[in-house]
Amino acid sequence: MSSLNAIADPTISSESSTHKARLWMPERVVFTPAALDEPWGQQILARVRSLNLPVEELSRNRLSGLRGETERETYDISKRTLAVVTAPPSSFKLSPIPPSADWQFHIAEGCPAHCQYCYLAGSLQGPPVIRVFANLPQILDNLAAYESSEKTTTFEVSCYTDPLGIEHLTGSLAECIRYFGTRDRAQLRWVSKFDGVDELLSLPHNNGTRCRISVNAAPISGRFEGGTASVTSRLQALRKLALPPKEGGGGYPVGIVIAPIMPIEEWELHYSQLFDAISAALDFDCDLTFELISHRFTPGSKEVLTQWYPHSKLDMDEENRSVKRNKFGGIKYVYDADTMKALRRFFEGEIAKRFPNGKILYWT
Ligand code: SF4
Repeated sequence: MSSLNAIADPTISSESSTHKARLWMPERVVFTPAALDEPWGQQILARVRSLNLPVEELSRNRLSGLRGETERETYDISKRTLAVVTAPPSSFKLSPIPPSADWQFHIAEGCPAHCQYCYLAGSLQGPPVIRVFANLPQILDNLAAYESSEKTTTFEVSCYTDPLGIEHLTGSLAECIRYFGTRDRAQLRWVSKFDGVDELLSLPHNNGTRCRISVNAAPISGRFEGGTASVTSRLQALRKLALPPKEGGGGYPVGIVIAPIMPIEEWELHYSQLFDAISAALDFDCDLTFELISHRFTPGSKEVLTQWYPHSKLDMDEENRSVKRNKFGGIKYVYDADTMKALRRFFEGEIAKRFPNGKILYWT
């Protein structure tokens, strides 16, 4: 259980902040010609112009000029750039995404936040510029073919982006929610570390969307989740989404994703405090699920993250981990079996005790 003290640091104080995420305003917004040909691209253009952001129209459908001298410089340039492009034909063939959902689809790739453990590192190729897709109506039209006739089919939209973090620039999450509100046997799933949900509250969702927020213990979110809303603000956002419409809320099914779970020093105390905050925010009956994800990394994600965040204190020491292989031969580093067992027992116990109607979808 040595890894239980993986990122012990007595100087970390509890997060008391309730800061809202500042809306991300890119310094540079580029549109490809193909994106400008799309009505949804024009809708994004109007939003971007109304925010007085400088717009560049590219002469070709290729993005270029995003590389700096170092990977860190490339990261800095990219994270200040919004590129409005069209999703390539290959993205119309969907992939499954267990255990989160039946299928994943993408309305954007890249995220304006700066989490030092970011899941996108190693999954997306090239500079981490925030690309949003202008051919959204086609992306949505493609989904019906993947619906099962026997059960509700779930679609995850946040594998490659934080859709709420860019919603003020795109409106695309709201459009997805409207679309799923018209489907009888399909559910949209999205997750965020942002808090700007007001525009989503009055959408006709017809329970076709489960809104989740991702939270963590204070020392982890305070230290590793740059550019996001505070956990307190995220929980307030989830409360708004879950409250019934007659109380000014959205009446959505909601979910809590606790990720990445890390056995930091005094982890039981810190995660108990997180559960206290969740209980206080959701102190009414609602349709609530939990997803529990322990921290893991791959050789590829470690390499990218080390270039992006060279001074990070995130523990990615292979010596402290067990190796897990997937069916394609890829490896990831996870906590050892005893640590996993202790963490899992704690989380499942707390949820059963505090949220008897809450459903745990998975532990991983
Ligand atoms: Fe990465 Fe998610 Fe953090 Fe965005 S919010 S930087 S996608 S971990």
